[in-house]
Amino acid sequence: MEYELEGIIIKKQNINDFDQIVTVVSNRGKFSFFAPSVKKENSKNGLNLNTLSLVNFEIIESQKRANLLPRLKRANTIISFPINVMLKQEYIDLEFFLNKINSIKWQNFIDAYKESIKFLDSKKNIVMAYLLYKLLEIEGINPNIEFGCIDCRNKNNLVDFKFHQGGYLCINHAKEKIEFSILQSLYWINKAFVTFSDNTNSYDAQIIRKMIIQYLNEVI
Ligand SMILES: [Zn+2]
Repeated sequence: MEYELEGIIIKKQNINDFDQIVTVVSNRGKFSFFAPSVKKENSKNGLNLNTLSLVNFEIIESQKRANLLPRLKRANTIISFPINVMLKQEYIDLEFFLNKINSIKWQNFIDAYKESIKFLDSKKNIVMAYLLYKLLEIEGINPNIEFGCIDCRNKNNLVDFKFHQGGYLCINHAKEKIEFSILQSLYWINKAFVTFSDNTNSYDAQIIRKMIIQYLNEVI
């Protein structure tokens, strides 16, 4: 059986002299396949197997030998992760969380990745906040992004947002305060990437990015 699969490469393990086992996140969940000869110098497939690239794979699966890993026939890069030393931390964070999260529903993340990763060079905090939020969603965490205190529903005097409490907090129910512009930016984070990007700035996005990383580290 042969089929196509779109996925983001999250791990490669060398095996034998020239082969690799490649793991991707895809609409089939986390998925590993055997990639023969991809470490040979003239391998076209090898050039299309960069970690964190979004790639279209043609996969062959043997019905008779179900114990064998599916096998790569062809790999074509759709979008590469930008090659830029200034994006080292972004690379590390994405690789870490994509490997750590064991969701089976990756399609929304893949769609968001397609939408936003080309802006990583120019808007790294905005892209990272957006993608990390998508990871929360596929992990099954959906904070209440509606403007209003999660305790009393008050829409006025909102002063904080806590992921672990699940949304906004008003001045009567918050223990801390963050800048109002960050609260406004958060309102757009579950919308389309361009909408979020148009309604936030790099500074606020950097704070949101840190908030989500801290929360992900607590819950996964
Ligand atoms: Zn309240």
